[in-house]
Amino acid sequence: MALGQLVKAWPDDVTLVTQNIDDLHEKGGANRVIHMHGQLSRALCAGCGARWDAPPEMHTQDRCPDCDARATRPDVVWFGEIPYHMELIGAALAQAELFVAIGTSGSVYPAAGFVAEARAQGVRTLELNLTPSDTAGAFDAVRLGPATEVVPAWVAQVLEPGLG
Ligand SMILES: [Zn+2]
Repeated sequence: MALGQLVKAWPDDVTLVTQNIDDLHEKGGANRVIHMHGQLSRALCAGCGARWDAPPEMHTQDRCPDCDARATRPDVVWFGEIPYHMELIGAALAQAELFVAIGTSGSVYPAAGFVAEARAQGVRTLELNLTPSDTAGAFDAVRLGPATEVVPAWVAQVLEPGLG
């Protein structure tokens, strides 16, 4: 909800990228979320690449609404597959002033490499996490604590710098 508040306050200045495949960011009020590992609520045809809203229950024998192939699957990135929207994310990193990683182990690539990519472009970096991630040493600053505390506190500070 804190991130939703930030996105609403700065709709053109915040790019929210998530590895989450659920819709909790959207439920928290964020729109235009970049789901780099896809979304469980969407279906994908492994045959033709068509995408559509997933039914409540999916079966491998379901037919694709576009090509009729029995090749439907959840529209999520599985191990060994390349995450979605990498060019979009790279472009956002290149023009960022600040890169913030929240609640991540720092062990799943390519997302774990974003901090190095940001730093190489001269972008300030901040990690908000319960415990230091595998890449915590690469950040300019690290704030530790439960997400329910550190994220709203950081958002409040960003929206009203006088508080910090
Ligand atoms: Zn298809």
